[in-house]
Amino acid sequence: MNDILLMLPGPTTVAPRVLNAMSKAVVNHRGAKYGEILTETTELMSKVFQTQNDSYLLTGSGTAAMEAGIANTVAPGEKMLNVVGGKFGERFMKIAQTHGIDAQELAVEWGTAVTPEAVEEALEADEDIKAVSVIHNETSTGVAAPIEAIGKVMKNYDALYIVDTVSSLAGDEVNVDKFGIDVCLTGSQKCIAAPPGMAAITLSDDAWAAVDKVESNTFYLDLKAARKSGSKVPPETPYTPSVSLTYAMNEALKMVMEEGLDNRVARHHKAAKASVAAVKALGLELFADEAVSSATVTAVKMPEGITDADFRGTTRDKYGVELAGGQDHLKGNIFRIGHMGNISYKELTQTFAAIGMTLKGLGAIDDAGAGVASIAESYL
Ligand SMILES: *Cc1c(COP(=O)(O)O)cnc(C)c1O
Repeated sequence: MNDILLMLPGPTTVAPRVLNAMSKAVVNHRGAKYGEILTETTELMSKVFQTQNDSYLLTGSGTAAMEAGIANTVAPGEKMLNVVGGKFGERFMKIAQTHGIDAQELAVEWGTAVTPEAVEEALEADEDIKAVSVIHNETSTGVAAPIEAIGKVMKNYDALYIVDTVSSLAGDEVNVDKFGIDVCLTGSQKCIAAPPGMAAITLSDDAWAAVDKVESNTFYLDLKAARKSGSKVPPETPYTPSVSLTYAMNEALKMVMEEGLDNRVARHHKAAKASVAAVKALGLELFADEAVSSATVTAVKMPEGITDADFRGTTRDKYGVELAGGQDHLKGNIFRIGHMGNISYKELTQTFAAIGMTLKGLGAIDDAGAGVASIAESYL
């Protein structure tokens, strides 16, 4: 096992039974055995997405599913609205532009969440918008968007509702059918706690109708091809999938279902709440608006006078805890604690001990144990 505790917003610590699943024999991906494991895995995926629709696995990271999700459903020249309040919202903008989509931005201040009213206003103002993309959990800022409430707004419009749940599915509440999500996508290495390298996507009937109208402009990520191969008996993927990662996803999704989705979501919310309290107990400041702060990642302002290299270098090299830094203009200004996947008080205690000792060592705080004490109280 890795002796560095990964407290990152992906990749997250992978359980031994998931790692072991990957050591099974690699089988023919065009045979009955793989068909069986693929069927079981995509069915588990649909359960986790909470949808009656089929799910598809893509060999690639979460970004592959982001690209598949929009390139197949929005045609070049068509208008798409992207909520942008961080790095991943920006990514949807860039992917859309890459595919010649008329990408419009609904800008949200980093650290705050979009409101359903803002989405409604944008849709009212422009009836040509064919799709709206929202990042459920903006991992770069630690903010969760109100995807259920936005879904209620979206029901009154024809535009497709595309939601990135890469850092929230199996960690925060995502109910694809209930929320009216047309395209929902995720990745393996965040809350699902499988190794990096697989993504998954599910589409509603409306989204498939859009796929049938859009001329394919991506080859590897062509969802028409994925649907065609997926409907074979036994089902297949268009090109060679990562057989080993399929085993890993299968085992990780079984762990999710064994814990129970609701329990798992509650556990993540508890970790988030405990983390927020511990951050405050150390006298540190949250970056995100607390009312909309994420269930899976907590962003913290870097204390005055402390450099990212000193802080995160020490937590990692001296205390064995790997935290994430800030991205773009937040680089050096914040650090992020990923509490997704298999996380409970044990990992948080170690994490806040490392943060407390590091900050005291750097002269930024007096009480190194305040965070740990707070974690203990939260979990008592
Ligand atoms: C991690 C992440 C992605 C995908 O990133 P990959 O590195 O391609 O797996 C997409 N969206 C969000 C919100 C993420 O956190």
